[in-house]
Amino acid sequence: MASGTMQLNASSIREDFPILGRKVNGKPLIYLDNAATSQKPRQVIDSIRDYYGNYNANVHRGIHRLSEEASEAYESSREKAARFINAGFEETIFTKNATESLNLVAYSIGMQLGKGDEVVVSEMEHHSNFVPWQQICLKKGARLRFVKIDKEGRLDMDDLAGCLNRKTRIVSITHVSNVLGTINPVREIAKLAHDCGALFIVDAAQSAPHMPLDVRSIGCDFLAFSSHKMLGPTGIGVLYGKKELLDSMQPFIYGGDMIREVTFESTRFNELPWKFEAGTPNIAGGIGLGAAIGYLEKIGMENVFEHEKMLSEYALGRLLSEEDIKVYGPKKGRAGVISFNLKGIHAHDVAAILDQEGIAIRGGHHCAMPLMSRLEASGTARASFYIYNTKQEIDAMASALEKVRGVLTGR
Ligand SMILES: *Cc1c(COP(=O)(O)O)cnc(C)c1O
Repeated sequence: MASGTMQLNASSIREDFPILGRKVNGKPLIYLDNAATSQKPRQVIDSIRDYYGNYNANVHRGIHRLSEEASEAYESSREKAARFINAGFEETIFTKNATESLNLVAYSIGMQLGKGDEVVVSEMEHHSNFVPWQQICLKKGARLRFVKIDKEGRLDMDDLAGCLNRKTRIVSITHVSNVLGTINPVREIAKLAHDCGALFIVDAAQSAPHMPLDVRSIGCDFLAFSSHKMLGPTGIGVLYGKKELLDSMQPFIYGGDMIREVTFESTRFNELPWKFEAGTPNIAGGIGLGAAIGYLEKIGMENVFEHEKMLSEYALGRLLSEEDIKVYGPKKGRAGVISFNLKGIHAHDVAAILDQEGIAIRGGHHCAMPLMSRLEASGTARASFYIYNTKQEIDAMASALEKVRGVLTGR
């Protein structure tokens, strides 16, 4: 809501990120690879150091003080993660990352698929929301269908409607494309999926870090994201699932912590959310994710979104004005991820020359090889923004692209 938004102060935010003070190839680091992973503020780094330095212990099992403190910190991070997406505590499962969250659903729900069932994904999925479904469908004899994208790089909603029918059991689609920056209309898709009796799963790896999220308002059945793309540490992610669905599902991994009672013959599983969390979890990671959520909430997710929208409009303006640059994805109403190619130059070469200037972007297929074939590109260069990026950094990237042309084509 425009009334509630405030311009975010990127220069004071930058002071919280120690890594932004370093140089790369003698130049100040310009980090524009946030769709791959984000940098971490001091508050997150300190929370992890504090855990290991002051109250390191295993969670859920100790009677002693340190274990109580660690359990309390870990579970209070879960509360924060639940509140962050408007989910219930029991509905918020900690995993390793978005990939594991999606695999958990694919295996647990996918086990129930059979011949004649259909699963619908889109052409713009990341491999982690694509390969698990492809493999489950192959194993179970179910059919995997792909919703097309249109010329602008948006989901073709007519094609989606055409893919849905009585046989559709699962629709699993990304909220924001990690290549095109497209924001998909997830509320609308939820309605369409539910109208034909299917479950709807949202890959929120590129939306949870960058915009307000509300699983109730979306109306999805499951939603997955990773901590490391939203200022938190690697090795921890979240799966939201509707309670009644999680209750009815088989665990994906078995072991300690997820049990209530074990005999030689059988096992009663623990209650939610721990039923899905076998073994010692990533305690430090959970605590760090809690600190990251606290940091983002202080800024306000509306403000995060507005800042990146401003940056991506600015960057698009600069890139689109160049005749030899092809920009992929919608020109409007998109997130802060921009894929492009310089005519006649490989994306890897663009990324390598920018690196010499201290600028980190990504070049390649971005874990979306089916989409690359759809775009008829072997790869793209990709710049992606976050709260600490500035217009000046985009200007620096644009000047460095001049250099790329000079070095590689003599233009
Ligand atoms: C990064 C990403 C994933 C996978 O995240 P991991 O942290 O590698 O598990 C899934 N989907 C999208 C859209 C992504 O950008």
